[in-house]
Amino acid sequence: MKKNISIVGSGLVGSLLSIYLAKRGHNVNLFERRPDMRKTSISAGKSINLALSDRGFRGLIGAGLADDIREIAIPMYGRQIHHSDGSESYQPYGKEGQAIYSVSRGGINMKLMDLAESMENIKIHFNHRCTDVDLKNTTSSFVDESTGAAIVDKADMVFGADGAFSPVRMSMMTKTDSFNYSQTYLEHAYKELVIPPAADGSFQMNKNALHIWPRKSFMLIALPNLDGSFTCTLFLELKGEVSFEKLKDDESITAFFKQHFPDAVALMPSLLTDFNTNPTSLLVTVRCYPWTYQDKVALIGDAAHAIVPFFGQGMNCGFEDCVVLDEMIAQFGEDWQSVLNAYQIARKPNGDAVAQLALNNFIEMRDKTGDPKFLLRKKIEARIAAENPSFLSMYAQVTFSPHITYDSAYKAGQKHDAYLEQLADIPNVFDLWNTPQVQALIQSLLLV
Ligand SMILES: Cc1cc2nc3c(=O)[nH]c(=O)nc-3n(C[C@H](O)[C@H](O)[C@H](O)COP(=O)(O)OP(=O)(O)OC[C@H]3O[C@@H](n4cnc5c(N)ncnc54)[C@H](O)[C@@H]3O)c2cc1C
Repeated sequence: MKKNISIVGSGLVGSLLSIYLAKRGHNVNLFERRPDMRKTSISAGKSINLALSDRGFRGLIGAGLADDIREIAIPMYGRQIHHSDGSESYQPYGKEGQAIYSVSRGGINMKLMDLAESMENIKIHFNHRCTDVDLKNTTSSFVDESTGAAIVDKADMVFGADGAFSPVRMSMMTKTDSFNYSQTYLEHAYKELVIPPAADGSFQMNKNALHIWPRKSFMLIALPNLDGSFTCTLFLELKGEVSFEKLKDDESITAFFKQHFPDAVALMPSLLTDFNTNPTSLLVTVRCYPWTYQDKVALIGDAAHAIVPFFGQGMNCGFEDCVVLDEMIAQFGEDWQSVLNAYQIARKPNGDAVAQLALNNFIEMRDKTGDPKFLLRKKIEARIAAENPSFLSMYAQVTFSPHITYDSAYKAGQKHDAYLEQLADIPNVFDLWNTPQVQALIQSLLLV
């Protein structure tokens, strides 16, 4: 039976979810707090581009959008590391041809909304800010931001795709018993900056890499955009010896960048304006459970599992939520209680695993990518992968293997790490590669 389904939030995940539900024949109303981004400028303060990987593509394939998005995406085949001494090194992400893709956040959201609006059973209501959801009666309250009018929507089901600070989740938290919730902020915040194209419109750095300036307690990264520019993001502690609070005037900002990122600052003519204009934004991990209420309400995407951005998986994970929910609909049909229950049971461990992977990867990116022992472990892992084509590193499992769950990848990665650590501790390990000691460790690792 066709349901009338309301989705709060037409961001990346809400828009994709609407397409999946509409393809199953349901009538979908999407309610979005912001104005239509296709008619106004894209919201400030959010990362302008994102890394899309195979899990995200899997979600887009189901919606029939993968080819369109590939056309507006730039492949990044590896990490380009900018060391403190001015030297650079390059670490491929995977096997030849494997890449993660830099896509514009607004670009992908607009394509999703275009497709959603082209379907006759989806309607998007902009400027509708959700203030409350009556879970039992599936009625949602909104304020029309353009007129101030109060609006009440009655549906058969409500999905909260309303991001890290989800009002739908807030309704679940305040109106149900035993709702578990935690939010944890990093001591680091982020700020976006720009490396513009060269005068002739070309890229000023290798466009097919994700650039990282690891500086132990902080880092700068840069992802390419189609117009020849790079969006840079500075991740830095809010307080302390080296922190945002110390960068309070043009002099201190310039000195900081010249000391730590001299090659980047030379390419950033609008650094001071960007630094002073762009917001300093916080980084939060949200864990909660349950994600559903009876057969009526469910959380999806960041509303269910907001994570820090260091594995580039938040959107990818949210898109995978849509795929798994759709699989549950295929399995349980109109039994929505079972659909929602199976969805949350399948996804919760993966939400937790990707949250931890993201936190761990922050340390890896900012600290270890410049550390010789870490680089040795990566070399050992790369040789094992080259000699054993069926071996998949944890990174490859997360990024290039959408049929392996985040949870399995996380657990395998923990075990791989223990063996790689032992191998890296063997002096001249590459000279001893074919000895029984080294081969025994490699065989144990391959059995994980
Ligand atoms: C700096 C940074 C870099 C990132 N990089 C990556 C990356 O490289 N790869 C990756 O996969 N992920 C990345 N992410 C994560 C990614 O941005 C999120 O996981 C993704 O946006 C989640 O999508 P969503 O639709 O669940 O939430 P959102 O994108 O937050 O969308 C929620 C929507 O709900 C709307 N909304 C909120 N409140 C209301 C309300 N009261 N009423 C109505 N509507 C409402 C919002 O306006 C918004 O449109 C990054 C995140 C950050 C912060």
